Amino acid sequence: MTTYPVMDLYRKSRRKGIVFWDHDVTDVSIFDTTLRDGEQSPGTSFSFDDKLRIAETLDEMGVHVIEAGFPINSDEEFEAVSEIAATSENDVCGLARVHEEDLDAALDADVDLVHTFVSSSDIQIQKSMDSSREEVLEMTRDAVEHVKDHGVDCMFSPMDATRTDFDYLVDIIETAHDAGADIVNIPDTVGVIRPTAMYRLIDALRDEVDVPYDVHTHDDFGLAAANALAGIEAGAVQCQVSVNGIGERAGNAALEEVVMSLESIYGIDTGIDTTRIYDLSKTVERLSGIPLPQNKPVVGDNAFSHESGIHAAGVIEDSSTFEPGIMGPEDVGHQRRLVMGKHTGTHSVRETLEEAGYEPDDDEVREITRRIKSMGGKGKRVSDADVFAIAESVMSAVPEAEKTVDLKEVNVSTGNDRTPMASVRAEVEDEERVEADVGVGPVDAAMSAVSSLMGGEYDVEITDFHIDAISGGSDAVANVYVGVERDGEEANANASSEDITVASVEALVDAVNHLVRKEAREERERGAEP
Ligand code: MN
Repeated sequence: MTTYPVMDLYRKSRRKGIVFWDHDVTDVSIFDTTLRDGEQSPGTSFSFDDKLRIAETLDEMGVHVIEAGFPINSDEEFEAVSEIAATSENDVCGLARVHEEDLDAALDADVDLVHTFVSSSDIQIQKSMDSSREEVLEMTRDAVEHVKDHGVDCMFSPMDATRTDFDYLVDIIETAHDAGADIVNIPDTVGVIRPTAMYRLIDALRDEVDVPYDVHTHDDFGLAAANALAGIEAGAVQCQVSVNGIGERAGNAALEEVVMSLESIYGIDTGIDTTRIYDLSKTVERLSGIPLPQNKPVVGDNAFSHESGIHAAGVIEDSSTFEPGIMGPEDVGHQRRLVMGKHTGTHSVRETLEEAGYEPDDDEVREITRRIKSMGGKGKRVSDADVFAIAESVMSAVPEAEKTVDLKEVNVSTGNDRTPMASVRAEVEDEERVEADVGVGPVDAAMSAVSSLMGGEYDVEITDFHIDAISGGSDAVANVYVGVERDGEEANANASSEDITVASVEALVDAVNHLVRKEAREERERGAEP
């Protein structure tokens, strides 16, 4: 993984008098709360097995602390937290309110770290807890002491810290620290802080109370990852994240965004196996029932995809041209994709086809690109299978100059109370002909019209005909295969189009052209015999 010398830049900035940070960030602990705050996402509930599976992956990847749940919540939750605590290599944390029964449940689950929290903002103290600042300080002291009396590490969170009066925030942190808290988490519970403010807050708190700090951020304004990183820059030693950023409301800072920013932009080796991020993200997407947006950073379908001709051509040359360059799909177990559509250029069409083993010439690449752009321009998603079907039909077509029948136009009218009718216009041996016919359906009508158009001279029997939808959906490309026969001679052709009737007619005409070519070739060979 390449990195930019960002830290050097910061040091240079400092010399100019702009202090970005006053210490080197070399070590960051990643605290994952997918199983706790993540599970509090509206509508999400992980089963016992889901929790174990997610925890196992996080643990194997080397995520430093796993918040496994809220043990007092239910017997099942208690069992899951206990099991994860018993089987994980890394630290496992259990959440507890400042009540003794909550703390005991977490202690009984045998976690490495008890995370206890209480509201510190006046609005929550008054309206959620119906309590007072003094009472809250007392509860804080008692809770932290209770955990420490059992010889277990304790993290204390003043809930809603970012809306808490600063002097009171210092008081409550001091209280927790004096009671023996090992680390203090600063939660931006309702997601209202901004990066520079988070920096100043952590910086100021570090001046007031010398304790390791952690930050817990929410994405209500899309600033969760930025705020977490600002906390780290200001000297927090740990930040809380969740896979795919799931969590209360708009969610938490996303593990994939924060970890990859630290690794790639900051140049910090987190020690986490980032190559499993994509798979983990997909697992959590499925188990949480929260679908990932296509444009999700790092793990979204489009994170390393390119459609535009200029970008795709650049990326084929060197992926750093139109990607960050300091993070590639291989770093997170994802894949780079060239997406076909309206903005596609010939470079990516050629690259995609050659990678799949096709050897199109320049004219074919141009024609395939034209058809892909036309399909994409109609607002359709062009899949790889669509591209290959288009390529096969273009590449197997009889060259323009050798066409006996050159199709110009197909028109069909159909409906539930009218006889399907089709008209076809084509040049047959350079003579323009137009014919119309009816049939049991639009394809049948069009095929009959083609037969009439070719008259007696190219009258063939259709021996084989089938249609496959290449991709799902009503806008899929249909691939039509037609086999024809005349006087014991056979030929066949494929054609693809989003229009099933057009594909059928093209395949039939092409099969006829192949047949005529074949007959002519055999006649020449017979004539050449001595
Ligand atoms: Mn939260």
